[in-house]
Amino acid sequence: MSDASELRNKEEETVSSEPEGQSEDSSEEESAEDTEMDLLRSLFSTGLGLGSAEKVLDDLTLEGVARYINSGKCKNILCMVGAGISTSAGIPDFRSPGTGLYANLQKYNLPYPEAIFQIDYFKKHPEPFFALARELYPGQFKPTICHYFIKMMKDKGLLKRCYTQNIDTLERAAGLDGNDLIEAHGTFHTSHCVSSFCRSEYTLGWMKEKIFSDEIPKCDKCSSLVKPDIVFFGESLPARVFSTVKKDFPRCDLLIIMGTSLQVQPFASLISRVSKGCPRLLINMEKAGEADPMLGFLGFGGGMDFDSEKAYRDVAHISSCDEGCLALADLLGWKAELEELVKTEHARIDSQDEKEKEKSGESKGAAAEASPAPAAPPSKAEE
Ligand SMILES: [Zn+2]
Repeated sequence: MSDASELRNKEEETVSSEPEGQSEDSSEEESAEDTEMDLLRSLFSTGLGLGSAEKVLDDLTLEGVARYINSGKCKNILCMVGAGISTSAGIPDFRSPGTGLYANLQKYNLPYPEAIFQIDYFKKHPEPFFALARELYPGQFKPTICHYFIKMMKDKGLLKRCYTQNIDTLERAAGLDGNDLIEAHGTFHTSHCVSSFCRSEYTLGWMKEKIFSDEIPKCDKCSSLVKPDIVFFGESLPARVFSTVKKDFPRCDLLIIMGTSLQVQPFASLISRVSKGCPRLLINMEKAGEADPMLGFLGFGGGMDFDSEKAYRDVAHISSCDEGCLALADLLGWKAELEELVKTEHARIDSQDEKEKEKSGESKGAAAEASPAPAAPPSKAEE
């Protein structure tokens, strides 16, 4: 009886009218109480220093984590991942101000760089966003060793879910599906008409064709703009993020945080939602998520503690995400399998790309590369 099936039941409640008592977790109230208890429990244990903070790892190292995973006691692994897991695929961290990409946005005549991801600006001037989307189009990239490591944890029945801040869909490309994933900042995988009266859904294939034909995507039914389902500044996170966090985090046996400096809220604060005994492994180029001394003093603890005297569960492995995953895979005895998976999957993607190129012809690709879309005003009023 996995929590995943429980979650599916719950999600289906809105569409199916199952007779009462048939499913185990059919009562909304019951599950609300359940999560409330979880929340209280974790509040008490983290806030008041109660609860058993027994040491789960025998050593605060990657070796200690590997022994724990191989012990069979670790069955619900959660991953929290950020841009750092996709950089080796060639994808820039383009939502973070200060990265090179924002400097390249000058050609779009934006009032300020972040405007390209602001929903109000987008509705009036969608061209810069779609020109950028073409430059950064996700299908041109391959999942990394780190992505396939997450997929391996799924195949071995260890992964509860992967929470990603990335919108590049590489988790899906590596073989995770919608139920394995919380795309906290949305995804390119689907798109919707921006009109609140219409909200028609469009596929990745449909959007890709529009983006590469230099056409501003317009709804087939109502002619409003169509936007990929990524979360723009000024939009709230998908509701499923919050409901799933409440279910997943209190039951987590091991939290693996990769490729994120844990600076974007509310995502960053999720690390404090696991139970007090739950080990947390950070694989990143630098340490992240360490407690703010002031907040800790006020009882809102939960920050990472890698090397104080009191450290008992947090492990920092400072390396690239790919190196860290390979090292962990090696300790787990999975390394050869992981390398084989990466090799065969990359070969498969390459041959798929070849076929697609042959199909679409060379001229189209060359034209798409030649010039960004002109930043002209939209030809038609939206909505
Ligand atoms: Zn529409």
